[in-house]
Amino acid sequence: MDKRFQTICLNVLFAFLTFVTIQSIAQNTSDKKVVGNEIEKYLLETEAIRTTDFDLFTNNLSTITQSQIKLSVYQSCFLEYLNSYKIGYQGNFSEAKQKLNELFSGCNDLKIKIRIQALLANLNIISRNYALAIESLDYIESNFDKINDKTTRHIAYTVFFITYSLLEQWELTIKFSDLLIDDNPTEQLLCKASVNKYTALFHKGEKIDKDQISRVINHCRNINENLFAQALNIKWLRYNVEHTDDFVKLKQFLEQLSEADNEVNQTKYKNLISLKNALYAQIYDKMGMTKLAVDYAQLSIEQGKSIGSTEQEIFALNVLVNHYQSIGDYQTANQYLNQKYEAQHEFYSDKQAKQMAYQTIRHDNLAKNHRIQSLSQQNDLLKLKNELSEKSRTNQILINSIMAVLLIILLYIGYKIKRQQQQFKKLSELDHMTYIFNRKGAKNYMEYLLPYSEKKGETVAYGIFDLDHFKEVNDLYGHLIGDWVIKKSISVCQSLTFEKVTFARIGGEEFAIIIRDSSLEEIKEIAEKYRQAISQIETKEETGHDFSITASFGVTTTETAGYNYLNLMKVADTALYKAKNNGRNQVAIYQEPIDNLS
Ligand code: GH3
Ligand code: MG
Ligand code: MG
Repeated sequence: MDKRFQTICLNVLFAFLTFVTIQSIAQNTSDKKVVGNEIEKYLLETEAIRTTDFDLFTNNLSTITQSQIKLSVYQSCFLEYLNSYKIGYQGNFSEAKQKLNELFSGCNDLKIKIRIQALLANLNIISRNYALAIESLDYIESNFDKINDKTTRHIAYTVFFITYSLLEQWELTIKFSDLLIDDNPTEQLLCKASVNKYTALFHKGEKIDKDQISRVINHCRNINENLFAQALNIKWLRYNVEHTDDFVKLKQFLEQLSEADNEVNQTKYKNLISLKNALYAQIYDKMGMTKLAVDYAQLSIEQGKSIGSTEQEIFALNVLVNHYQSIGDYQTANQYLNQKYEAQHEFYSDKQAKQMAYQTIRHDNLAKNHRIQSLSQQNDLLKLKNELSEKSRTNQILINSIMAVLLIILLYIGYKIKRQQQQFKKLSELDHMTYIFNRKGAKNYMEYLLPYSEKKGETVAYGIFDLDHFKEVNDLYGHLIGDWVIKKSISVCQSLTFEKVTFARIGGEEFAIIIRDSSLEEIKEIAEKYRQAISQIETKEETGHDFSITASFGVTTTETAGYNYLNLMKVADTALYKAKNNGRNQVAIYQEPIDNLS
C-alpha cells in the first residue's frame, strides 16, 4: 500500500479518538419534539449524541431541517455547523472544511465560532495540515476569556490537549489536561484527560507514581473506556521495560502484559495491538529469548502495516536485523535494514513536520496579518449585505447571490495566496538533506524568538557544533558516507528529544542549537549529551567501515551576547574555535563581555 495513504490511515485513527472524545462532552439526549423556544436545547442535545448514536444524530438533523420552523441566525449557524460535522464524519474532509470556513466568517456567536475552530483543528490534523490546526488553536486561545459556558469551555480544553499531544508538545498537553481535570468534567472526559496527561508525563521522562497510574486505568475501565485504559497501561509498561534490564522485573512485566492481552485485542485498535506485540518482542529480546522476540516482531510489523511508520515498527525491524545478522543470513538482514531506513525516514519526517508546524506558526506574522485582513474584508461585506437587505426583499435575493459569489471568490483567492505563501516560506526555510531549518530558517526563527524572549525576560541559549576532521571522512570513504555521517549526527541529537530545542544546519557539517527559555548551565549539559551521543555512533553496521565520529561545540547565551543574533553567532563561533584548538571533541563556552571579541 502507498506509504502516504498508510499515514493518512494512522491519522484517521487518531482523529477518530479525538472525535469520540469531543462527542462525549455532553450527556444523553431524548427524542423530544422540536418546539419553538426549545430549539437551542434540541440542537445541543443533538450535538451531544454525534458519535454515541450517529443514526439518531442524522435523524435529528433531518427533523429540524424538514420542520420548516423559522430559525434565528444563531440557530441556523448551529445547524449548519452540525451538518458540517456530519459531512466530515462521513469522510468528506475538504468539503467539510470549506463549509466551516464559510460559516466562520458568516456566524458571529462565539460559541459557534469556537466549535467551528475545534472541528477545523480536528479535520486539519487528519489531513496533516498541522500548521492550520495550530492556527485554529490560536483563535480559540485568544478568545478563551470570553467563553462563559462549561460545555464550550470543555470542547476547547479537549481539542487543545489532544492536538498538542499529537504534535508532541508535552508541556502544553499537561497544562490543558490539568485545566480540564480541575474544572469538574464528566467521567468520560476525566478519563481521557488523565490518560493524555500521564502519557505526556512519560514522554517528558518525569518520575511517576505507580498508584496514580493504576487509579487512572481503573477509573477508565470502570466507565467502559477500555481503549483509553489499555493505551495508558501499554505505554506505562513500555516505559518501565525501557528502563530496566532486571530479569525478575522483566518477567513481572511480561505477566502484566499477558493479563492485558485480551482486552487490548478487543479494542480492535491496530496501533495499540501492534504496540503491544512490539512490547512482547522488546521484553523477550531483553530476556535473551530470541525466537519469541522474532515471532512477535514479525507479528507486530504485520499488524501495523496499514497504519504508517511508528516507533514500534522501527524497533521490531531492528530486532529482525540483529537476529538475521547473528545467524549469518545477510540477505534477509539487509532486506529488513532497508525497511528500517524507510520507516525511520518516514517517522522522523512526520515528527519534524509537526515540530516545524508548531515553531513556524508562532512567528508566522505574515500569514496571520493576511488572515486578519481578509477576515475584516469579509466582515465589511457582511455589514453591507445587512444594510441592503432591509431595503427591499426582491433586491435582497439578487444581492445575496452576488455577495455570496464575491465572498466565495474572495475566500478562495485569500486561501490560495495564503497557502502558497506558507508553502514557499516553509520550503525555503528547510534543509533538504536533514529536514531541519537551514541558515535562513534559523535567522527567521531567531528574529522572532529574540525580541519575544527579551520581552518575557527569558534567556536564549545558542550553540554551534562542527564535525571534527570531516574532510578525512570524505577523503577516505567518499561523499555518500560523508552525507550519511551528517544525517546520522543530527538524527542522534534529535532522538534525545528536548522539547525546547530547535536545530538548524548552518553550514556543510556545521549545526546550530537554539534553546528557548534556557541558561548557560542547561545548554552546556545538553551539548555534552549530544557530544557523547555523536561520539558513540556505530558506523560499521550501516557503512561497512569502522571509524569514529566526533564534534566540537561552542555555546553561549543572551546573557553574554545580548539579544542579538549576529553577536550570538560570533560568540558561539569563538567558543567553537577554542574547542577545536584545545583538541576537539569537547564543549567550550565563551563568557567574557562582547567588547573583548576581536
Ligand atoms: P575541523 O575539525 O577543523 O572542522 O576539520 P574539518 O575537516 O571538518 O574541516 P572543515 O570543517 O573546514 O571541513 C568541512 C568539509 O565538509 C569540507 C567539505 O568538503 C565537506 N562538506 C561540506 N558539505 C558537505 C556535504 O553536504 N556532504 C559531504 N559529504 N561533505 C560536505
Ligand atoms: Mg569540521
Ligand atoms: Mg566546518
